[in-house]
Amino acid sequence: MASFYPGSEDTIAAISTALGEAGIGIIRVSGPDAFDVGNRIFRAGKKARRVDLRAMPTHTIHYGFIVDREETVDEVLLSVFHAPSTYTAEDTIEINCHGGIYAQKRCLEAVLGAGARTARPGEFTERAFLNGRIDLTRAEAVMDVIQAKSRMSLNASLSQLKGSLYEAIFSLRSRMLERAAFLEAALDDPEHYSLDGFSKQLEQESVSWDREISALLHTFENGKLIREGIHTAIIGKPNAGKSSLLNRLAGKELAIVTEIPGTTRDIVSETLRVGDIILNVEDTAGIREAKDLVEQIGVERAIASAEKADLVLCVLDTSIPLDPWDERILGMLEEKKKIILLNKSDLPPVIREEEIRAIAGETVPVLPVSAKDGEGLEELEQLLRDMFYHGEISFNDEVMITNERQKECLERARQSLHLLNEGLLAGMPEDVCAIDLTDAIEHLGEITGQTVREDLFDEIFGKFCMGK
Ligand code: GDP
Repeated sequence: MASFYPGSEDTIAAISTALGEAGIGIIRVSGPDAFDVGNRIFRAGKKARRVDLRAMPTHTIHYGFIVDREETVDEVLLSVFHAPSTYTAEDTIEINCHGGIYAQKRCLEAVLGAGARTARPGEFTERAFLNGRIDLTRAEAVMDVIQAKSRMSLNASLSQLKGSLYEAIFSLRSRMLERAAFLEAALDDPEHYSLDGFSKQLEQESVSWDREISALLHTFENGKLIREGIHTAIIGKPNAGKSSLLNRLAGKELAIVTEIPGTTRDIVSETLRVGDIILNVEDTAGIREAKDLVEQIGVERAIASAEKADLVLCVLDTSIPLDPWDERILGMLEEKKKIILLNKSDLPPVIREEEIRAIAGETVPVLPVSAKDGEGLEELEQLLRDMFYHGEISFNDEVMITNERQKECLERARQSLHLLNEGLLAGMPEDVCAIDLTDAIEHLGEITGQTVREDLFDEIFGKFCMGK
């Protein structure tokens, strides 16, 4: 493959699997010398014979050993992929070695000793982009697929990986490009191209393009919630059942606990799942460990944490009467999306729904639940769908904006279209309007990578994990 960007003549290598004890580990090697690197260290079959990987058919797997300076490093399976039908569109080998930390590191060392250099995080995907195999939306989707925490999030990322967002942007941008090209031709050659009625038509088109962009921008909030989850605060007085509810929703194996050390008290956030919906609950250490935390730190702190959240789950114990703490919390946070959970619904209720409504208002959802036996959790899922996703949702094929970068590019494109539209309405000359049209086209191109900005690469690929 012809190299047309700096560094593409290098052959890069990295461990592509997570470094820990596992069944297998994969070392990926990509670049013009991938087969030569393999030839230097791979010995095929039980008899460990030298072979020429370049002569092997593409997409084949070979049994053998990695041998580094006379020392047998590991027993492996080596896959051969010829360019261009590979992840990076370059010649690639993948070495499946044993999944131990030492075995993987030692195999990587052998590969590096044989002439490859260590890949930067995301460099394989960056190459796939630079070699024209995928656009930037698909590159971003790769990482989203890896980081997906729910079925919805995975579906949305897979749809983007298949090119749904790329196609939407490509189609819109092509229509704009066509008009820009015509305008340019007409300005250059007025004798053969007439601009009669062009401004009027372009003005109408700019309104319809603006609508398409707005519709895409509209998907951002949903996309963000699907990807990152709903930022949730669980509040309620001690013994209301907050930790029981957390445990019920988390399930030991599902909980993903992130510890951020170095803070005065470790903040622990947990990813909880209610059906398909992801809730991110911060400060779970406070909820789980310090039973008297609320009394210790007071209502103010509980409200402050709730104020930062997208959703507040107020947990009440229905088996005991309301007290001033509950009343204060219920009467606050009027602007927030909140759900009042009447926990311990398995016990005889003491609090009536009317009492709560009298304080919290008629519209706030009140739901009986039991952290003990799981009652009410399906209803909670439906309620969350209604509140955050406008009812039923299926994200199989929907085009969706999932990250800030895409959103900002779309906003800039829309801004340029507004300027274009204002200019046309004000009767500005076509050549001035052409500037705004070109700007809008450029901004859309940044989403897919058709307009290349060098600084984008670090921004996008720097966030990738090693070996991808
Ligand atoms: P927190 O202080 O709000 O975190 O409350 P906990 O989750 O520690 O629960 C306090 C007590 O209430 C514990 O003894 C739980 O077993 C009990 N509890 C929690 N949820 C329920 C429930 O739904 N039904 C019943 N019967 N007991 C519950």
